[in-house]
Amino acid sequence: MLSNLATRDVETLLHPYTHLSNHRRTGPLVLERGEGVHVYDTEGRPYIEGMSGLWCTALGYSNAELVEAARVQMGRLPFTHLFSGRSHDPAIELAETLKELMPVPTAKIFFCSSGSEANDTQVKLAWYYNNALGRPQKKKIIARRKGYHGVTIASASMTGLPANHMDWDLPLPGFLHVSTPHHYRGAEPGESEESYSARLAAELEETILREGPDTVAAFIAEPVMGAGGAILPPKGYFPAIQAVLSRYDVRLIADEVICGFGRLGTWFGAQALDMRPDTISFAKAVTSGYVPLGGISIDPALDEVLIGQSEKLGGFGHGTTYSGHPVACAVAIKAIEIYRRDRVIEGAAEKAPHFQRRLSALADHDIVGEAKGLGLIGGLEIVADKASRRQYEPKAGVAARCVAFAQEEGLIVRFLAGDRVAVCPPLIITPDEIDSLFDRLTRALDRTR
Ligand code: PLP
Repeated sequence: MLSNLATRDVETLLHPYTHLSNHRRTGPLVLERGEGVHVYDTEGRPYIEGMSGLWCTALGYSNAELVEAARVQMGRLPFTHLFSGRSHDPAIELAETLKELMPVPTAKIFFCSSGSEANDTQVKLAWYYNNALGRPQKKKIIARRKGYHGVTIASASMTGLPANHMDWDLPLPGFLHVSTPHHYRGAEPGESEESYSARLAAELEETILREGPDTVAAFIAEPVMGAGGAILPPKGYFPAIQAVLSRYDVRLIADEVICGFGRLGTWFGAQALDMRPDTISFAKAVTSGYVPLGGISIDPALDEVLIGQSEKLGGFGHGTTYSGHPVACAVAIKAIEIYRRDRVIEGAAEKAPHFQRRLSALADHDIVGEAKGLGLIGGLEIVADKASRRQYEPKAGVAARCVAFAQEEGLIVRFLAGDRVAVCPPLIITPDEIDSLFDRLTRALDRTR
């Protein structure tokens, strides 16, 4: 029997990424407030938010300084824009700060409101750039199966998950996918991580050569795959991939929407995984998820081309009403100030070994095949048989059941395709809270058996 609020939900909301017919029966989990790493439902029941909302609330809940930054900017100037050369100080200050922080050569920052828009912008700019350079055929984009880059038509085309393609008439032509870099599932028996990485780089090279290097514009990758299963790349993966990309003048886009701002214990995931991208997409933790903000770094060569094109074509024909929204920028400035002042990212790196020890201990559980991560993110895979790595029938919905048990134990984690469960708590989590999170997850796994 659904509560009144749940019934109203079921009758009115089209929920993103939700099994719609099941939802009519189960109803929603309605959350009301949060404090630190905890969120509370309408009955007052607390949960450890083991997913930072959707991989974003790095500073946890009810951070008074973020709330105050939003309040002050709302009172001062709640909206203005960056179109036609208009500007405002929060956008300027935030762009300066991000330029300093970016681990890649950065001339400018372009702002939008989400990760999908950021990645959509990456595609449009890669195309625009190659048109400007007189190589209009160099347009194809290569991504990875199980990569997640968002839901706009271009970003969903780069996303490598069946749910984003089936019956959506996607991916668009010109968007290709190569293998998921997942050693546990993809490696040959006895193949080392390094050899597996070399094999994946060879596959990428074959793909580029088959398509014709003069037709391939960019390769996009998350440092650690998030929504595709919280999957860590094998050792040596990015250097091997990078060598191929530079041979054929293919741009590397790092999708740092999850990994950016400390998730892997470094400011950006690229720094943790020896990845040297040409450009970075960011969103989520840039504001600790408190208000929507996304963006990309613009490298100096692209910046020069964009300015040149304006001479030729007139105004730069891209941007949204909320590109550089002043309240979002003010909150991001404050979030970055807190990350720096409170050594939040160094703190995440210090807590990571404990988090990873607790996570990898779950690999001993009799229904867990793999439990692996980096920094304060991790993924585990539930299997029916550990020795053969055989999976449960998809219909069993075993990861969904585990996540439902976790919820009953007072823990929010997320199930993902392939019977994977992701854990990605706020970076401010304490060692005791890490223990409590994994104790609850262990109990949920025990009940899932
Ligand atoms: N890129 C990555 C790596 C993501 O994890 C996400 C969302 O989870 C996106 C892009 C899309 O971001 P948004 O949902 O803000 O559009």
